[in-house]
Amino acid sequence: MSKKQIVILGGGTGGTMTANRLRRRYGADEAEIHVVDRDDRHLYQPGLLFVPFGLATVDEIVRPRRRQLHDGIVFHETEIAQVELDHDKVVLMGGDVLPYDVLIVASGARLQPEDTEGLTGPGWNERVFTFYSPESADALREALDRFEGGRLVVNLVDMPIKCPVAPLEFAFLADWHLRERGVRGRTELVYSTPLDSAFTKATCAEHLSFLLEDKEIELVTEFSAGEVDGAGGTLTSFDGRTLDFDLLVTVPLHGGAGFLERTPGFADALGFVPTDKATLQTTVKPNVFALGDATDLPTSKAGSVTHFEAEILSENVARYFAGRELEHGYDGHANCFIETGFHRALLIDFNYDVEPLPGHFPSPLGLPLLKESRLNHLGKLAFQWVYWHALLPGREIPGIGPAMPTRGKKGLPVPV
Ligand SMILES: Cc1cc2nc3c(=O)[nH]c(=O)nc-3n(C[C@H](O)[C@H](O)[C@H](O)COP(=O)(O)OP(=O)(O)OC[C@H]3O[C@@H](n4cnc5c(N)ncnc54)[C@H](O)[C@@H]3O)c2cc1C
Repeated sequence: MSKKQIVILGGGTGGTMTANRLRRRYGADEAEIHVVDRDDRHLYQPGLLFVPFGLATVDEIVRPRRRQLHDGIVFHETEIAQVELDHDKVVLMGGDVLPYDVLIVASGARLQPEDTEGLTGPGWNERVFTFYSPESADALREALDRFEGGRLVVNLVDMPIKCPVAPLEFAFLADWHLRERGVRGRTELVYSTPLDSAFTKATCAEHLSFLLEDKEIELVTEFSAGEVDGAGGTLTSFDGRTLDFDLLVTVPLHGGAGFLERTPGFADALGFVPTDKATLQTTVKPNVFALGDATDLPTSKAGSVTHFEAEILSENVARYFAGRELEHGYDGHANCFIETGFHRALLIDFNYDVEPLPGHFPSPLGLPLLKESRLNHLGKLAFQWVYWHALLPGREIPGIGPAMPTRGKKGLPVPV
């Protein structure tokens, strides 16, 4: 029997986890697993939040991609040029071709700052920054060190973005950092969002809006940023409202990987791959699966989501090869720590159908949900270790999996 050919596009969170899970499942004589990524720098993206405040350096959150992949996985360090869906082939930049039996799209989301007028013009990385890229997060650290007060505007241009709570966490940490530095009294801190509240989930808005008031952060809602004047220090919305700033920290537009657009029918208008929300098989072709930020699924673009999806996706790739029915096992489960400053954090846990609820995770004795605590902050810090040593290698974490736990949540029927 010939070996199965599995090609994984992207060697980030989802691509690495999936490759390692499939390597555990199939011996080297059963399957050849190929991972393609443009560089050999695996970035722990949640760590970017801490870089502007000097709480982490970029070097501390980057490791070689190759070293995260189990033995026997072939790593191709090159740009993906195109996928020929009709011929089950991936074409790499430089002309090499990888034929596949199963293709897994794990190419993430691409930042598109150039798609907002003026954003990358004068002032970019001088008074206009994003902590979503290592270069800009680093430049922002220097700017925050020099900041002696004025108007600091934190803005997200439009959804979807990776980790929808990260800009809010940035605002909370900025409040704390500037208080520690003694310049908060001279700073107006503004949070502007295109949404009708600071939080993407209604129950969070209900339970957590006091945080912005307590921290004296001005909230500007339904503000769709259309233009940035970095030299003049003005952010203008599509409906003509303006926000003046001395320092702008923005989260730019996100889209799918560029190569997806080169294959007609592979991606939606934003560049995300149409994917079955329960099986992770794409609707593009039965032998093409997708996970993580690259999909069009109606859940958060988050590492936790990618981890839960990787479990179901690996199982379903095996079922596909065996000709068995796919498991409809992914319920949209997502969980997320939200740093609130002063060594405290919140935790939220939800799925496609259930909004974040109070209680405890993953059981009645676990971490507090929707409540600030030092324990949650320690959980967020410890997560980096868990990421490198348990999640990426594809190890199981007892009690934490793709199905959202209901035990411990208040307001849900207790399962018998
Ligand atoms: C600031 C920040 C904070 C975050 N905080 C959290 C958090 O607290 N909790 C949480 O759960 N999640 C968080 N996330 C989100 C999380 O990091 C992502 O959701 C997760 O990494 C998605 O994994 P992925 O595999 O889909 O994409 P990625 O890990 O981004 O991997 C995609 C890979 O595809 C490669 N690629 C794309 N196109 C090409 C091409 N043409 N050729 C070659 N290679 C290509 C890229 O180089 C990349 O390595 C945060 C993200 C950011 C930016």
